[in-house]
Amino acid sequence: MIFNPEKYSIPDEPGVPFIDPHEINRYLSRERSDTVRIKEIVEKAIGKNRLNLSDVACLVHADNPEQIDLIKEAANRLKENVYGNRIVLFAPLYVGNYCTNDCQYCGFRISNDKAQRSTLTNTQLIEEVKALEENGQKRLILVFGEHPKYSAQYIADTAKKIYSVKQCNGEIRRVNINAAPLSVEGFRTVADAGIGTYQIFQETYHPETYKTYHPRGRKADYNHRLVALDRAQEAGLDDVGIGALFGLYDWRFEVMSLIRHTNHLEACFNVGPHTISFPRLQDASEVRYNSTYLVNDNDFTRIVAILRLAVPYTGLILTARENAEIRKEVMKYGISQIDGGTKIEMASYAQKKIQDQDLSKEQFRINDNRSLHEVVEELLKENYIPSFCTACYRLGRTGEHFMEFSVPGFIKRFCTPNAMLTLAEYLEDYANPELEHKGWLTIGKNLQRLNGNANVREIRNRLERIKQGERDLYF
Ligand code: SAM
Ligand code: SF4
Repeated sequence: MIFNPEKYSIPDEPGVPFIDPHEINRYLSRERSDTVRIKEIVEKAIGKNRLNLSDVACLVHADNPEQIDLIKEAANRLKENVYGNRIVLFAPLYVGNYCTNDCQYCGFRISNDKAQRSTLTNTQLIEEVKALEENGQKRLILVFGEHPKYSAQYIADTAKKIYSVKQCNGEIRRVNINAAPLSVEGFRTVADAGIGTYQIFQETYHPETYKTYHPRGRKADYNHRLVALDRAQEAGLDDVGIGALFGLYDWRFEVMSLIRHTNHLEACFNVGPHTISFPRLQDASEVRYNSTYLVNDNDFTRIVAILRLAVPYTGLILTARENAEIRKEVMKYGISQIDGGTKIEMASYAQKKIQDQDLSKEQFRINDNRSLHEVVEELLKENYIPSFCTACYRLGRTGEHFMEFSVPGFIKRFCTPNAMLTLAEYLEDYANPELEHKGWLTIGKNLQRLNGNANVREIRNRLERIKQGERDLYF
């Protein structure tokens, strides 16, 4: 009988650190590149079964083109079968870049005296939101440095203010947060403001490496950050996003740890992460890092495909840190959300003039500077439905990604129709005639594919109502 360490290990407890580098390394050292086993594992994943740590350790060891193709093809199949062809769009909004931490890789770190620091004033915040709405955005992620200025109350008030800014047909319908870890009370405060997902990236799960990159400030405490999202769960905020900053340590260790983190959340709270992020380290002002572990494009593609197979129910987020070409490539292997029309310089959405990137004003360099319009255009060309949907969160259908994955017909009943309805709004309100034409063709094609479904007539009816000027219709 094969010994299954996961079955016999001590159960996880909420709030108790769960990463043991020896355990992860044991899994990694026990597995090797093995085509037969990889075939079994990808079949298991395609059957919509969660992979365990031994399975994932085997996939990260895949080292020849045949094995890597097996993994990529399976990820592509799983994505298409489970999620359909929509991609959800959002934009980041940098609210404040004061920071008391000293993360060596980040342009906002306290010891970078070249960084230009600011916090959006009330007027600037409103101007930024209006500019984003004028572009057609409906979903934002707010980004903050870690600083006493950015308390839970401040984050909550900012989110509420953003929800209240409406002009013409523009409105922000979902505000997600990427900010410092909070206390249970703090998470309650932001949850009450109606935020969507709270994201916290562990950066590196490798404790020794973590120590060298986070020498001081609150963030120097690895365990405080590691169990931060347990506190969110305890506060009733069950929509949490995890992530690792790829390039700080061995990517295989980080992928294993992301799965270990997922296992922890599932074991303790019966709900896994809503999203997983896997930013790759980018150039930034005055940064210091060791280039040993930088991840190349091939390995990056493998990371995305392995995560897709390992946790089939979770949203995978890809940002404009990556260039348009690699974004197009890895989207096939399981991405469900991307940002579009991204600007990360403070107060830059409201600036009409196109600015060159100035690293002293930004957290890091971005590599996809396309407008939202251009991103939508490319998605349509690649046969995706660009979606601005926020329905599940607003209807209290939390754990939406889990339902997409586990409830038969969920995608056809809710996700695809909502993607079409929100695309229709975007086309009517923000697109030029050429994009409008292309977009409606896509809607038409996807409607045909839904023929025979119970709600096709109602979808047609709602699309017609949107053409007549109604907004915010969803299932
Ligand atoms: N300050 C908060 C924190 O550290 O959790 C929240 C937001 S931080 C501004 C957002 C994320 O950007 C970090 O968690 C980190 O993963 C990522 N980041 C920082 N520096 C980066 C760089 N040079 N390249 C790519 N991503 C970076
Ligand atoms: Fe501050 Fe976050 Fe940058 Fe670290 S990653 S220096 S905490 S803004």
